[in-house]
Amino acid sequence: MGSKGFKNKQALLVIGGVILFTLLLFLPFYFFRKSPELEQKIITNLSSELKEAWYYETLESGWVQCSLCPNNCLLKPGQRGLCKVRENQGGKLYALNYGKLVAIHIDPIEKKPIFHMLPSSTSYSVATAGCNFSCLNCQNWEISQSFPEDVEYQELTPAQVVEEAIKSGSQSIAYTYSEPVIFYEFMYETAKLAHQKGLKNIMVTNGYINQEPLKDLLPYLDAFNVDLKGFSEEFYQKITGGKMAPVLETLKTVSQAGKVLEVTYLIIPGINDSQEEIKAMSQWLFDNLGQNTILHFSRFHPDYKLQNLAPTPEATIKKAREIALAVGLKYVYTGNLYYPAGEITYCDNGSVAIARQGFIVTENNLVNGRCQDGTIIPGVWE
Ligand code: SF4
Repeated sequence: MGSKGFKNKQALLVIGGVILFTLLLFLPFYFFRKSPELEQKIITNLSSELKEAWYYETLESGWVQCSLCPNNCLLKPGQRGLCKVRENQGGKLYALNYGKLVAIHIDPIEKKPIFHMLPSSTSYSVATAGCNFSCLNCQNWEISQSFPEDVEYQELTPAQVVEEAIKSGSQSIAYTYSEPVIFYEFMYETAKLAHQKGLKNIMVTNGYINQEPLKDLLPYLDAFNVDLKGFSEEFYQKITGGKMAPVLETLKTVSQAGKVLEVTYLIIPGINDSQEEIKAMSQWLFDNLGQNTILHFSRFHPDYKLQNLAPTPEATIKKAREIALAVGLKYVYTGNLYYPAGEITYCDNGSVAIARQGFIVTENNLVNGRCQDGTIIPGVWE
């Protein structure tokens, strides 16, 4: 009996010890766990450093639907959009790239290319990481296909960008290099401020944006260079990951708004270089946007995932220009090759209005946007 009583006592001591140990281990977690209010506050504080995105809707179970671009990403909590920069955090969409500029350059406006606004001026040019396309031939893939946290950046506010642009002597700000649609909030706020300070705004874009955000932005933008990357849905699907129809809608909306609209068509050999496709594209521009539509044919250089292709033959670019002129477009230019005739704006009588070489204006005979023969060249000239 004596031995049994001792064993029971021992067992009780062991059980008691285990219970005490467990309590000591977990009590602090009970008393110091975050209250729901505190947890909410922490999320809010974290999020207040981020810019809440525009154009989205929170759905049941915390999913969000972004409606900034035609990808219309449906994102579960913690998920990012195809653009790599907009993320669902706790049922709210945040623009993680807001103000995080990965490129800042002072470029000739001709480099955008914008040929029909403020020739010979410079444009303060900015970009963030990210893009809503994934073009196989992207020339800026290091920034466009990156997450914002993976690229070195400089953080600036819209007011600072405007101030720096003015200090640099630029007459405009260009949102460019990657895809400005995906830094929409920053572009919008900067463009609005820039207008108040007398600067113009240029968007160099793939045109892949939904109509509502585009229309909201239009009052603050002066000029667009829109890449029309090919002229078939098949091309867009295979090469860009997007769709062509929304880009054509963008072209119509911008044109109807009376903005300077310049279209760039990069000719990729063997992919979008057939004369039929170029004629159909030029005809569409003529029929839908008019004869004054400004069109640039640009020469492809092997890059990113299309390094196996050769640069576009110069003859292809020159022929494309002839086709577009024959369709009736009046302002057709060539780029990324040495061909001075392809960089001249002509008056109706065939005389030179503006001549350029590379990004340099070599001759400008316009007075208040008019040639000596009275031709009015569409654009913004002062
Ligand atoms: S902006 Fe980004 S998150 Fe929004 S729909 Fe487009 S790709 Fe998706």
